[in-house]
This record gives sequence, C-alpha cells and structure tokens, in this order.
Amino acid sequence: MPKPILLSVDDDSDVLRAIERDLRSQYGAEYRVMGSDSPETALDILKQLKVRNDSVALLLADQRMPRMDGVHFLQEAMRIYPDAKRALLTAYADTSAAISAINDVGINYFFLKPWDPPAERLYPQLDDLLDDWQASYRPAYEGIRVLGTRWSPRSYELRDFLARNHVPYQWIDVELTANDPDTKRLLDALGPDAPNLPIVLFPDGTKLLESLPAQVAQKVGLRTRAETNFYDLAIVGGGPAGLAAAVYGASEGLHTLMIEREAPGGQAGMSSHIDNYLGFPTGLSGADLARRAVVQARRFEVEILAPQEVAGVRIEGPYRILKLADASEISCHALLIATGVQWRRLEAPGIDRLQGAGIYYGGSATEAMSCKGEIVYVVGGANSAGQAAMNFSKYADKVVLLVRGNSLSTMSKYLDDQIQKTRNIQVWTHASVAEVHGESHLQEISVLCSDTNKVERVPATAIFIFIGALPQTGWLGDLVQRDPRGFILTGPDLMRNGERPEGWTLDRDPFLLETNVPGIFAVGDVRHGSVKRVASGVGEGSVAVQFIHQYLSKV
Ligand SMILES: Cc1cc2nc3c(=O)[nH]c(=O)nc-3n(C[C@H](O)[C@H](O)[C@H](O)COP(=O)(O)OP(=O)(O)OC[C@H]3O[C@@H](n4cnc5c(N)ncnc54)[C@H](O)[C@@H]3O)c2cc1C
Repeated sequence: MPKPILLSVDDDSDVLRAIERDLRSQYGAEYRVMGSDSPETALDILKQLKVRNDSVALLLADQRMPRMDGVHFLQEAMRIYPDAKRALLTAYADTSAAISAINDVGINYFFLKPWDPPAERLYPQLDDLLDDWQASYRPAYEGIRVLGTRWSPRSYELRDFLARNHVPYQWIDVELTANDPDTKRLLDALGPDAPNLPIVLFPDGTKLLESLPAQVAQKVGLRTRAETNFYDLAIVGGGPAGLAAAVYGASEGLHTLMIEREAPGGQAGMSSHIDNYLGFPTGLSGADLARRAVVQARRFEVEILAPQEVAGVRIEGPYRILKLADASEISCHALLIATGVQWRRLEAPGIDRLQGAGIYYGGSATEAMSCKGEIVYVVGGANSAGQAAMNFSKYADKVVLLVRGNSLSTMSKYLDDQIQKTRNIQVWTHASVAEVHGESHLQEISVLCSDTNKVERVPATAIFIFIGALPQTGWLGDLVQRDPRGFILTGPDLMRNGERPEGWTLDRDPFLLETNVPGIFAVGDVRHGSVKRVASGVGEGSVAVQFIHQYLSKV
C-alpha cells in the first residue's frame, strides 16, 4: 500500500530542504515526504496525486511566498484534498495573519521559524495533527479505476472486457456520482482530459483517454503477441472447447498456442450459473470455470494470446499459417478451430443505434448489477435466455421474458420450473420486439403481440437478447467445408457415399474431429452436429488431442 504523503512548500530552498529532512527523519517510515519550492507546482503535484488516488495527510506551507502566499495555497489545496491537515510556517512578524487564517480558512496549526529543536517545536504538534488525520483515514482504492457513463457503448465494452478477462477495477459512473464531492474533485484534477470518457486510471499515475480494450490489454500485461512464430498446435478460440484442447495438448507435451478474440471462457464465460457441469454439484459460474481453466492451461505452459483475433488461414505444405488481425503470422503443424458461435442479431428499428446503451447481446454480470430496481427485458425462449432471466431476477425489480412462441417448450424443464416459481419473472408469450426507442439510451420498446396483432409500447431501460447463434467461420474463407448454416463438417460428415472429401490426399479417412484439410480439426459449438453444451465442448477439445497426436506422428 502506498504511504500517505506529507507535502511541504517553501520558495526558500534551504528552508525547504531543512523541513523535508526533519519530516523524513521522524515520519519517513510511515509517510512519504514530498516538497516543492513553488505553490503553483505544488498544486499541480496535488492534482496528479489525486488522479493516482494517493492520500495526502499533511500540507505544510510557508506563509511568505511570491505570487501566492501560504494561506492562499492551502485554500486552493483544500479543494483537492479537503481532509489533509493544513499547517503554516511563519516568521514571527506574520503571526497575526496565521491566527486569522486559523479562524477564517480552517488552517489547523502554525509553526514559527526556526522550529529548532524539532523534538519540542515541531514533532509534538505534528504528531497530534497526524494522529487526528489517521483516526478518520480510510486507505484509498489502489487498483485500476474506470470513469465513464452507464449508457455509453464504449464504457460498456471496456467494462465487459475487463470483467471477462478478470482484471479487477473500480467503476466510477460520472453521471450517477456527479454530485459526489470526491468524483467532482477527481474530474477537476483531470482538468481538460475529463470529457474524454471512458478514462482508465492506473495506479502508476498513467491514464488512458477514450480508452479501447486493446490499449488497456497492453497496459495490464495481457499478451497479444506470440513468443515465437511456430507451434505444434495452434488453437483458435478460447471457449470451453479451446481451453480443454489447450490443457490436454500442452499437458501431453505439445508446444501449444491459444488465440482468443475477446476473453478466455467464450460463451460459457457469460453464463451466470452452469448447473449441469460434472463435478460441481451446486453449479458454478461461467467466469469461475473460465478462470480455473486459464490457470490450469498456464500451469502447463500454454501460451495464450488475448485479446487477439485470427483473420485468415492458408496452407503451405505441412504448415498451417494463421494471419492475425494485427497482420502478424503464426505457423503450426496442427490447427484446432474452436471459434464457437455468436449471438444472432435482432432486426428491429433502433437496435443497432442503441447497442451497448440499453441493448445487449448475451448478459454480462457487469450489467446485471447495474439493473438494480429496474424492469429488464430478456428476449429468447431457450436455456441461455432462461438462465439470464434467473440471474437478472436477483437484481432487477422485474424481469420480462419475451418469447415468440406460446410457451417455454425449448427450455430445459428444470429451468422452466425455476422461472415459473420466481415471483418477479413474467413470461410474455407471442411477443417479439418491433422497435426500440430512446435518444442516448433505451427508454421504451414496442412489442408486437402476434396473438392479438397489436403493438404495445412499454418503458424499458435494458433488453438482453438471446435469439440463437451463428458459427464464427467467416475468417476461414473457402478452406474448410461447412454445412449450409456455416457449421464446420468433420470426420464421417465429410464422407459422401463412402468417398473421401474432394482434394483429400491421405490414404486414410479424415479422423473423427478432422476437417477436409488434414491437420485442421474443429471442436465445440462451431462444429456441425455438435451438442451445444459446455461438457460436450470440453469432451471434444480433449478427444481431438488424441487425433492431433496421430496426425503429428506422420507429418
Ligand atoms: C448465457 C449462456 C448460458 C449457457 N449456459 C450453459 C449451461 O448452463 N450449460 C451448458 O452446458 N452450456 C451452456 N451454454 C452453452 C455453452 O456455453 C456453449 O455450448 C459453449 O461455451 C461452447 O464452447 P465452445 O468452446 O465451442 O465455443 P464458445 O464458448 O463460443 O467460444 C468460442 C470462442 O472463440 C472466440 N473466437 C471466435 N472467432 C475468433 C477468431 N476469429 N479469433 C480468435 N478467437 C475467436 C470467441 O471470442 C469465443 O471466446 C450457455 C451459453 C450461453 C451463451
């Protein structure tokens, strides 16, 4: 924990050195002693300290300074650090100014120069002031702070990114806390930078304005560049299937790289509660599962690049070469595609404009907590929508589940039962979103009721959309065969009337999870015919490694 600061200001550098020396010898173990020979510079220092979230315990200023006297400096400094103890250093002739300052502007004490011996004329009084300050001192938050507004899509994207990558941070909503004196002081200290939201403040005093996830990723040490350019096994996608393959591959001696576009965990990382994963009788959150898997993968020395996107792939003899979004390339012998699926977009006027400002795909834990006391709409009738509704019901006043059909028949029975028993969840059947309304953020939605053919307009602050999924295979070009919906064909699904796929050159059939290109495998939700579940993704990721070994033994 950084030490609280004692700041002294004196334009006479000999006096400044002397006071710093005396402060340091008595208080250096517990406090950081700083000094400045100009009140203007000292105010700038205080602003920087405020932005860093450092604590200031004492301000000690000489009364007679050109341009700004000590009383004036302390008045200005109080605006930045109102709780710091304030003391003046005065010559005998200035004592009446010092006494009126005690009365008029709340200065705590004045010391006469010279203060020798300090043990009698400085320390006892300072001990008193500092004891007093310590009594109400609460150490400030030391980690990353993010300033933004709830309705800003960029703030949402950044917070979601930090949460999914398990980077702890303190969120400061500058609109919600606009009247909070501490927020005001922080914004004042930021000066002309303050409007450039979202702002990320780091404990080392640096800041990122209008910050993007990739910039923050670099600053917090998330790795986006590979250590070398060749791997035995490269895995694209860090959901459950990719993570399982990474753990099995690396634990069995393969030099393994996993590349993930957003955050390890994939869709499962967004799940508030996975009830049906083996070995966790009371369930666990997707974020917890992802965190555990990442720790395990790192223990086996899997190299994880996140956030980093794979933009293309090509074949050169035995090498499979991946092109990354930053234009760098990585080659490997075996490639595993585990890119899963992404939420289908909802087509309705206003949806795209308000995305991130009340309209969300999937349901992140970050947003769930912001919905305290509100009415939340969840669109979709399958398990993911049901789980989200259950999660939001813990925070929101009311959750309305908008379902196109006449029941929750596509949802697992246990979830349907839980929903029916949850007092603040309403299931609105025959309902679909016709339009969404709001200027800077969502305020109302129009719901088309297919049974009455009427449109109802209702107030809403947040809609979470779970309406099916699209496979993430666009980056593959024409390289691997897919079904008409874009899901990747593997193993037996590639065989036509007992014939191997076109262009297949090996004297064996494609392995169970192998695509029509030898050495390129596909697992999890992105694979045609897979069971779209965490356990099946994990199973496929693990099993694929056995086929990868067989493939590598003949490369
Ligand atoms: C809200 C919710 C709740 C769920 N609840 C459950 C549950 O309770 N039980 C259960 O068994 N299943 C549940 N599921 C389903 C389960 O999460 C999925 O079946 C599982 O996550 C699929 O794993 P995957 O690894 O195949 O793909 P995904 O989890 O989709 O992961 C794919 C990853 O690939 C990354 N990616 C995509 N393209 C690229 C690229 N070009 N470059 C780099 N990376 C890329 C994506 O960012 C993503 O992280 C739930 C799903 C959701 C959304």
